[in-house]
Amino acid sequence: MSKDQMQVRLARDVATIAETSAAVCAEAGYADSILLCHGCGNVEAPIAGLLVVDEQEEAWALCAECLSAVPLLGAVA
Ligand SMILES: [Zn+2]
Repeated sequence: MSKDQMQVRLARDVATIAETSAAVCAEAGYADSILLCHGCGNVEAPIAGLLVVDEQEEAWALCAECLSAVPLLGAVA
C-alpha cells in the first residue's frame, strides 16, 4: 500500500486512547504513558482523540483544539 492510500482512523473513546497511548509510549521508551498533543505540545491539554495510521502502527494524539482544526471530510458523528 502506498503512502497516499494509508488508512487513518480517528479514535475518540477514552479506553482506546488510554490503551494506544500506553502502547505507543512503551514502544517509544517513555517512562510514563501520557501522550502530548502532537499539534501544540501543550502538557496541560488533555488528549481528545487519536489519529491512528493503521499500516504504520503510528498514532497522533491531538487535544480538542487541535482535533477541531483537522480538516476531516464528511461527517464524523
Ligand atoms: Zn493541541
